[in-house]
Amino acid sequence: MPIAHDWLARRAQLSPDRVALIDALRGERPITFREWNATAQRTAHLLHDTLGVRRGDRVAVLAMNCVEYLDLLFACAKLGAILQPLNWRLSPEELKGLLADAEPLVLVYGPDFQAQVEAVRPHASSVRHIVALEDSPSRPSTDVLFFAREAQPDSPLPPLELEASDPWVLCYTGGSTGLPKAAILTHGSITANAANTVLSWGLTADDVALLNAPLFHTGGLNVFTTPLVYVGGASVVCRGFEVEQVFDLVHRGAVSLVFGVPTMFIEMQRHPRFDTVDFSRLKLLISGGAPCPGPVFERFFARGVPFKTGYGLTEAGPNNFWLPPGLVRSKPGAVGVPLFHVDARLDGDGQEGELLLRGPHLCAGYWRRPEETAKTFAGGWLHTGDLAERDADNCYRIVGRVKDLIISGGENIYPSEVESVLAGHPEVAEVAVIGVPDPKWGEVPRALIVSRPGTAPTAETLLAYCQGRLARYKTPKSVSFVDALPRTAAGKVDRRALATRHGTP
Ligand code: AMP
Repeated sequence: MPIAHDWLARRAQLSPDRVALIDALRGERPITFREWNATAQRTAHLLHDTLGVRRGDRVAVLAMNCVEYLDLLFACAKLGAILQPLNWRLSPEELKGLLADAEPLVLVYGPDFQAQVEAVRPHASSVRHIVALEDSPSRPSTDVLFFAREAQPDSPLPPLELEASDPWVLCYTGGSTGLPKAAILTHGSITANAANTVLSWGLTADDVALLNAPLFHTGGLNVFTTPLVYVGGASVVCRGFEVEQVFDLVHRGAVSLVFGVPTMFIEMQRHPRFDTVDFSRLKLLISGGAPCPGPVFERFFARGVPFKTGYGLTEAGPNNFWLPPGLVRSKPGAVGVPLFHVDARLDGDGQEGELLLRGPHLCAGYWRRPEETAKTFAGGWLHTGDLAERDADNCYRIVGRVKDLIISGGENIYPSEVESVLAGHPEVAEVAVIGVPDPKWGEVPRALIVSRPGTAPTAETLLAYCQGRLARYKTPKSVSFVDALPRTAAGKVDRRALATRHGTP
């Protein structure tokens, strides 16, 4: 199906003088749609004319949130190129794996990540150009400066006909099996998520969203920011989550929409300013990415905040349900009814089962992983790996997980990934990693280790071994040594038994 892919240009024609972005990294400078489209076009010319990026080529980005990140997103759309946002929490080893997977032609990096870029540079064989978002004395002279785009024209790019199935963003996830792989977010899927959200959640051109969730994740990118471009609203672009900044913006009424993961909300509620912040101009506060504890809802309700649970996953975009206003107080924590163009059902005949999703907002499968794609999207339905229940009002609630996943502060940790690193340590005979409840992070990883006979590894040596091989947030917070791992009759590690025996904080 053909698709009008360059919505930024379209939006710039329809509402040129409306504010599109507020750059909180530069004194809350407002940027109109006309200005933004012009800089995105300069960026596209830099990628195309100077760096040789063509339709289908990948452009990797390793940066904190910034306006230039969004310029790159829409520059890629204008060229039919594919953005590969990289999780900046990953270790150099992990980053190398993602670059080998997507083989980007260009790698763009923010000033905080020069050390990581130096570590991956010799291994990034597909990368022809490395682009620095900011200059620094230590920048290798071969790196292109992003601000070379100022010399580029802001004229439209040559016309391009794209299909809804054309990839736009490669968003990495472990899916339900844990191997890092990219969900192919297409022009069709991102557009469908935007349309669904605007229509079902009632977003308008007067809305202003706080964008502080990371842009490497579908949450930062697609909960509010792309839907607001679609409808003509604005995003306040913040570097990352900072509780004081959130309170300032909310208190001044500078944002109407806030999205975050439960850990952020817990931090807000623990802050002394929580009781005095004026929340009255907030239209919607959405928690997603992980289950949100009941008391967190109650504290927001007590302050009169319209707090709701969002539910999504990289493969289906972040927005799949909507809790009608009349049900918010009576069903706290429920995710609600499916959005306009989302089909949802439960696997099996009961009131509880694995949640399956279908619709134009689903990604086009995993990048270069046909077998995993076939498995996860069997029968045309996305098998989410989450357990849900549905009530008589067709209202869904997420009640658990069938996939082996730990969610810590909204970041996904796949036990298999951590286990395969620790298994490489010469003194480890067997290892299993489980999630342990934590009041701030939701869950934290714990490693259970069976040592090799004749060795006596310590927690410190094992954790030091993880450094550089694993992102910090994936590194176990505690290590327990055990004589053996419990096994099921089929010989698999019995995770349920492990959780019962070793899962207390
Ligand atoms: P990601 O692909 O990183 O967005 O992670 C998606 C996973 O986060 C889902 O499959 C769920 O396991 C979890 N998740 C997202 N939203 C919620 C929610 N509202 N309640 C419980 N778990 C959630």
